[in-house]
Amino acid sequence: MLRQALLIASRSGGVRKLVETAPFTRDVVKRFVAGEGVDDAMRAIEALTAEGLLVTLDVLGEDTLEAGQAESTVKAYVELLNRLNGAELGRRAEVSVKLTALGQSFDEDLALENARRICTAAKQAGTTVTLDMEDHTTVDSTLKILHELRRDFPGTGAVIQAYLRRAEEHCAELAYEGSRVRLCKGAYAAPEEVSFTDKDEVDKSYVRCMKVLMAGKGYPMLATHDPRLIDIAGALAVLNEREADTFEYQMLYGIRPAEQRRLAAQGAQMRVYVAYGQEWYGYFMRRLAERPANLGFFMRSLVSK
Ligand code: FAD
Repeated sequence: MLRQALLIASRSGGVRKLVETAPFTRDVVKRFVAGEGVDDAMRAIEALTAEGLLVTLDVLGEDTLEAGQAESTVKAYVELLNRLNGAELGRRAEVSVKLTALGQSFDEDLALENARRICTAAKQAGTTVTLDMEDHTTVDSTLKILHELRRDFPGTGAVIQAYLRRAEEHCAELAYEGSRVRLCKGAYAAPEEVSFTDKDEVDKSYVRCMKVLMAGKGYPMLATHDPRLIDIAGALAVLNEREADTFEYQMLYGIRPAEQRRLAAQGAQMRVYVAYGQEWYGYFMRRLAERPANLGFFMRSLVSK
């Protein structure tokens, strides 16, 4: 119930104002968000890659309703990718993009065109783009845009959310050679007709999806902080005789950093999802919804200030 309430709050303008203007918020947000500008992002990338970690960068923003705002997001990604190119970080850092930040909610063709521009800049920087998956109502449109982009940019990554009932079917469709697929549990509210709402059911779906991806010919990107699922991933890699460079683990910036380093030290490919920018509200609220301990951390900061 708390999770649902926080997810509803993540889309409420009133709560947003309250949280954004609270004096304590910034310190807490810093734990999950690398900063507001591209220089902050570059500092985070340099620190993480120096420790042997890979990075995927997200310019914060979503649910854009204006072409002008979508244009600003494209420019922010292109600026970042040019910086990666200049610093020769293209092999260690890629970008994650939310199509609703590029105009998907009001003009699908514009979102595709904008995504193409980001993919072009990524190609020049020697790296790739992964299309984040958002609210369940956007899945069909996102997969359609993914297939369009893959014609010219075959390395474009997809995301499958295990909490959706169609997840396993989508994994089977996407487990082909060269296909980069991130598997996550899913961070949005979705009705029972289309999603598993019980935590155990979501975990079981994650395992089924992981089995399909790890047995398939694509490149699985296993995004989870869940120790049980990480153990199962390791076992599936052995079972399917996968070398360490044929799949990767992914975790969010600020969550289980010691585990991120442990996996990298063992020789696994470990990618950290680093979000930055001013539009941190929705992202931050989803992190609170995922874990009561994160909420506790936030509440404690209220009383300690
Ligand atoms: P949870 O069920 O949240 O946690 C399981 C266990 O993990 C916990 O019991 C605990 O043991 C451990 N754990 C979790 N958090 C912590 C913590 N803070 N400290 C210590 N232990 C912890 N969602 C989308 O809907 N679309 C996307 O495109 C998307 N992209 C993502 C990209 C990456 C790289 C990652 C890591 C997540 C992404 N997500 C995305 C979010 C994802 O869907 C989940 O909401 C989020 O990862 C939490 O799920 P979990 O698998 O970590 O398991």
